[in-house]
Formats: sequence, structure tokens, C-alpha cells
Amino acid sequence: MSIEESLPTGCVAPPAPNGNALMAAADDEADEPTLTHVRACPHCAARVAELRALQARLRRCLYRLYCPTSDLLVDYYQGLLDPYQRASLTQHLSLCPHCAAELSLIERAFPFGEALGHIAPSRVIIPLS
Ligand SMILES: [Zn+2]
Ligand SMILES: [Zn+2]
Repeated sequence: MSIEESLPTGCVAPPAPNGNALMAAADDEADEPTLTHVRACPHCAARVAELRALQARLRRCLYRLYCPTSDLLVDYYQGLLDPYQRASLTQHLSLCPHCAAELSLIERAFPFGEALGHIAPSRVIIPLS
């Protein structure tokens, strides 16, 4: 599906910025002429808003695409990962609200406290409720 075709032409000051320029505007990286145009043109501003919503959706999908599994998060919590895995997961958790939320669920489900590292069940079921 092309965004270009899905909207009627209603630009108040043609030529409208091209797709790349509008994409840049959605990222807040557009050049000055594009920004000026978008501010003055409701049609192009609407396209930018649409692109922004699309990017937000894509970003959410990508988050989950690159997210670790629940098993891995449990292993992380229990200190079972090797240092490399642990470091990359720590970084992911700092960026990903979904996994950070999931980890806090795990913390509530497994209040190991100081027993951490001593108890290491090989398989843990996370109650999803
Ligand atoms: Zn326009
Ligand atoms: Zn994640």
C-alpha cells in the first residue's frame, strides 16, 4: 500500500514535499523549506502526522520483534546468563518499556531475594494473569 496514493491531492502550495522530505519531517529532521511548507499546509501536515503514527506503530512491532523471550528474562533475573547476554539484555531493558514491564512482573512472581543464584530451576512457568 502506498501512502502517496491513499490521499487526495490537496496541497495548498504545490509542489508538495516528496515522500522522503515528509518522512524527514515526521522524524523532526526535515530541512527548513519543508518545515515551512508543512506548517503552512494542512494537507501536508496531515500526511506528516500519518507518517508519524505509522512509524510509532512500526517501532512498537520492532520492539517486540527484537525482544528476548520470557524464558530469557527469567534466566536474566536469576543470574543465569553469561556476561555478554546479560550486558545486551541490560541494554535492551533500558530501551524497551515492554520488557522492563515484563521483568518487573517476573520480579513480583519470583521474590527470590538473597536466594538468587542458589535456586536455579531449569524451567519456570510464568503465570500470565
Ligand atoms: Zn503541501
Ligand atoms: Zn523488549
